[in-house]
Amino acid sequence: MTDPTSILVVNSGSSSFKYQLIDMDAERTLASGLVERIGDDEGRAKHTVHAEPGQPGEGSAAMLEATYTRTLPIPDHTAGFRVMLEAFAEHGPALDVHPPAAVGHRVVHGGARFFEPTLITPLVEINIDELSVLAPLHNPANLAGIVAARAAFPAVPHVAVFDTAFHQTLAPEAYTYAIDAKVASTHRIRRYGFHGTSHKFVSETAAAHLGRPLSELKQIVFHLGNGASVTAIDGGRSVETSMGFTPLEGLVMGTRSGDLDPAVLFHLARREGMSIDDLDDLLNKRSGLLGLAGSNDLRDIRTAIEQGDASAVLAYEVYVHRLRHYAGAYLAQLGGADVIVFTAGVGENAPFVRAHTLDTLGFAGVEIDPERNRRAGRDGGGDGRGIHVISTDASRVTVLVVPTDEELEIARQTLAVAQG
Ligand code: ADP
Repeated sequence: MTDPTSILVVNSGSSSFKYQLIDMDAERTLASGLVERIGDDEGRAKHTVHAEPGQPGEGSAAMLEATYTRTLPIPDHTAGFRVMLEAFAEHGPALDVHPPAAVGHRVVHGGARFFEPTLITPLVEINIDELSVLAPLHNPANLAGIVAARAAFPAVPHVAVFDTAFHQTLAPEAYTYAIDAKVASTHRIRRYGFHGTSHKFVSETAAAHLGRPLSELKQIVFHLGNGASVTAIDGGRSVETSMGFTPLEGLVMGTRSGDLDPAVLFHLARREGMSIDDLDDLLNKRSGLLGLAGSNDLRDIRTAIEQGDASAVLAYEVYVHRLRHYAGAYLAQLGGADVIVFTAGVGENAPFVRAHTLDTLGFAGVEIDPERNRRAGRDGGGDGRGIHVISTDASRVTVLVVPTDEELEIARQTLAVAQG
């Protein structure tokens, strides 16, 4: 193992990938970037170098980061990694000073096969490819990133960290849909759950922050971003989660409907002649907040509410109604909670959503401190990492805001596998 130990984290999509080089001794991001529009005439690469604390410029956020952008054709992921290596060579940090000890890859779907971070071998790549049946948009893109990154870093271990893995602890009664068992088994139809890396990171961070053993805590974690899911976690194990066979199930999201009577699809197909692709597009891309109120961004919805827009009011009320529905359900599944955590774009930045989600839960021992709730946010105060307790001291349930950091969690898991 080299010293200092760094891990490169890669999150690859079909026409882009994001990366972060993380110094694992200080758990600090050294550089991050985005290579996008792969395959277009004009690709774009953005590389940000994060200065070390204590270096000149400290104290000014603008001077702590320097960002470099390039526009050039990037025909495929392999070319994208060459562009990334050039950015490291030109702008730093030098990869011979911070050589990645391993590369960690986000992989969306691990099916029922992968329940922990896994060293990537040719056989693992075949399995990730085969699981593309369950995640046709994501797994092939993740695999393209893996293949290209292995070519760029042939001498170090590559590790796959699966979004579904954390939820592999769900019991059969939680993951089984009540449909014909043979059909379900043939097509591997069951609930898998997603956002697992975030739910794991946030629940572990909350326990550590409170100085309480994870194994003794019942937690409900709300990951509310553009995609959104909630997980019931008992002793560090996911026991119930709102996303299912795909990330479409559960909460109202930016553009996804969440829960819906499946008969709506039969009706639309019969009445409107909508194809499967039309229905997929409707529920995944044109529903949720966007479908109800014309924007997938809660900030816009809030502004529209202030301007008296009735569709924005209804969209927000539907959004909160569903959050309460799950809060109640998971309190029942867990038999009460010790900790409730909010994370991701909405969870970290929208105090009004946190308050409205929980304000009927006084009977279950949940009491929010309005001032603490108002102050908590991604950037402000807390313990320096943005962690805030927003419940009152008397509240039986401790409510926290914990910024998620999926890249750091992937890096930790990758390092653990690389060190064997
Ligand atoms: P993703 O799921 O794409 O990773 P994020 O977790 O970054 O997304 O969440 C993005 C969403 O967070 C935005 O679409 C917006 O709805 C919400 N958001 C971000 N900042 C705020 C804010 N200050 N107030 C309310 N909502 C916010």
